[in-house]
Amino acid sequence: MRTTAAVLHEVGAPLQLTELQLADPASHQVLVRVRATGVCASDVHVVDGRLPKPLPIVPGHEAAGEVVAVGDGVDDLEAGAHVVLSILPRCLDCDACRSGRTQLCSWGGQLAGSGTLDGTGTGWTLDDGAPVHHFNGVSSFADHVLVPRSGAVEVDPAVPFTAAALLGCAVSTGVGAVRNAADVRPGQTVAVIGCGGVGLNVVQGARMAGASRIVAVDVDEAKLDLAVELGATDVVDARAEKVRRAIQERVAGGVDHAFDAIGRPGALEDAFAVLGVGGTAVAVGLYATDAEITLRAFPLAGERKLVGTYLGGVDPHVDIPKLAADHLAGDLRLAELVVERPFADANDAIDELREGRTLARQVLTWP
Ligand SMILES: [Zn+2]
Ligand SMILES: [Zn+2]
Repeated sequence: MRTTAAVLHEVGAPLQLTELQLADPASHQVLVRVRATGVCASDVHVVDGRLPKPLPIVPGHEAAGEVVAVGDGVDDLEAGAHVVLSILPRCLDCDACRSGRTQLCSWGGQLAGSGTLDGTGTGWTLDDGAPVHHFNGVSSFADHVLVPRSGAVEVDPAVPFTAAALLGCAVSTGVGAVRNAADVRPGQTVAVIGCGGVGLNVVQGARMAGASRIVAVDVDEAKLDLAVELGATDVVDARAEKVRRAIQERVAGGVDHAFDAIGRPGALEDAFAVLGVGGTAVAVGLYATDAEITLRAFPLAGERKLVGTYLGGVDPHVDIPKLAADHLAGDLRLAELVVERPFADANDAIDELREGRTLARQVLTWP
């Protein structure tokens, strides 16, 4: 079939809306009509070359859509099902999968590294026959895409596509960091540095976990207002105040959990510095591959911890349906996070995210 995708042909260049030929689904693959795709900082990293990928490639990794057709061997998903796409396809057969850490699947890692679906191709070709690469098995900046069966998670169709898309990255990452990496308990105190698409989900994850104080930090007043709407009890405008002192003034003795939701070394250093005794700092985002941090060592004697997490440590097939249920129960708020834009605006959306002008999450949709 013919599809239209936003293709990155060259690092730093705008995406080009390009018609591609797309093969039928091969064995254990699913053809999905993409209905909504969020624009995440990791997509900007691909476009800017900070997350090097084989080119040409179709970015996009936070999406929801409907199943159009399935390949041989797929007997648990039917045309018409609503799915959230996952950047963590898995084989269930490698050492990591068999030990229950499917997010570290070596086969999934190979697909991400090679930019293919099966080690060879993606089903997509340019008109001259040249292959087009896949972004972590999702590549959702396209109207149709082939994905591995294990990269499609069926969700309740009552969740709107624009909201469901966010479950694939921003919500999994933010709420997952609270539940899995930090394990926030009722009554504990939390600081969240950075209130973009991910940080706002850390805020609401902390609210759902029953945190007593949630200090939200950002440089943008509108983002701080939205953080309050989603559950922040205190805000710090990082333009007007020194972040470390401001958090310590609001929660005497330091917080139980602090999250860097920006992915900047200085923010992670701040997160560690504002911990109380026994506290945990969580590195939520992706850092530049050469980023380094400097920490004071003495506070480690107070049993403070610094932990990393990838996609919030979620198992997509377990946690995404759970998050969808949280949304339908009214606990997880998603509509407030969606700024819907037409797919044709992909380049503008990337520019605005890069410049920090985006409130919450831009979600591209097709007419
Ligand atoms: Zn993302
Ligand atoms: Zn595996």
